Amino acid sequence: RAKADGRGVFRFFERQMDEAVQRKQALKAGLRGALDRAELELRYQPLIGVEQGGITCFEALMRWRHPHLGMVPPAEFIPVAEESGFITGMGEWALATACREAASWPAPLRLAVNLSPVQFRRPGLVRAVAMALSDSGLMPERLELEITESVLLGEEEANLAILRQLRDLGVRIALDDFGTGFSSLGYLLRFPFDKIKIDRSFVHGLPDREDAKAIVRAITGMGRGLGISVTAEGVETPGQLGALRKKGCSEAQGYLFSPPVPASEIPALFKRLRPSSHMAA
Ligand code: C2E
Ligand code: MG
Ligand code: MG
Ligand code: MG
Repeated sequence: RAKADGRGVFRFFERQMDEAVQRKQALKAGLRGALDRAELELRYQPLIGVEQGGITCFEALMRWRHPHLGMVPPAEFIPVAEESGFITGMGEWALATACREAASWPAPLRLAVNLSPVQFRRPGLVRAVAMALSDSGLMPERLELEITESVLLGEEEANLAILRQLRDLGVRIALDDFGTGFSSLGYLLRFPFDKIKIDRSFVHGLPDREDAKAIVRAITGMGRGLGISVTAEGVETPGQLGALRKKGCSEAQGYLFSPPVPASEIPALFKRLRPSSHMAA
């Protein structure tokens, strides 16, 4: 009996694995033409100035509307796109599309775009960024490229060289999901990042958990010491915002203010999230 049960459990897992493999295959097959079939969309989530209130920046976030599976979250399709290499074309589309959109926003409002580590290592990235800027007319200082610590792993000199070339275009470079990766803090000395984004897993524990407070205090202190501005992502409550303000965090992003929205809803957000109209907290 025990043996039979064991086999049953095994078959169950086998079936689940088959389903996962099949879904991944379907996603991979679907991604191939997703760009050409116009199934990709961008959402924009505002970043808010913690002291003065008001929107300082929008982060562009990719969405995939699959014809049968519906909206597939980036956490699921980005890894598949990275494995297959499609991320390069998709990322360039996101960059070009978001820059065109942002060129019509009132200055000095900024645009943030995520770069995949795969995209980062492909030759042609710097040229693609330069093209997106010149085609759209967006001023380089209004574009912020978000990279994660995993971009920095290995090939240190080559990575630093790419970062410097991007910086030479005049764009800003932000370190995303800070604290979740494995990169050495030495990078912060070797490359002058413009911004650190505290990962939402740390923000989540605010304002009560001592460990979360200690980490946020450490990151904001480090940012101050190095002259790097610090942003928090995943801000959902007034209590979290208050704790971040106390620690000297300069920008906040999260559902407390707005989820990512289609470009058409941006004007309404401007009205709702005006500078120092009462901050949500
Ligand atoms: P990320 O760059 O760290 O983006 C922030 C994520 O947190 C977004 O998830 C956003 O919707 C979510 N978020 C924002 N505020 C809150 C909040 O208050 N609570 C919670 N629980 N979540 C919040 P999203 O849009 O699902 O994107 C997930 C990740 O996928 C992004 O994380 C980024 O790493 C990647 N991604 C998205 N778009 C692109 C893209 O165009 N290119 C590349 N390479 N990666 C992208
Ligand atoms: Mg990001
Ligand atoms: Mg992030
Ligand atoms: Mg994140």
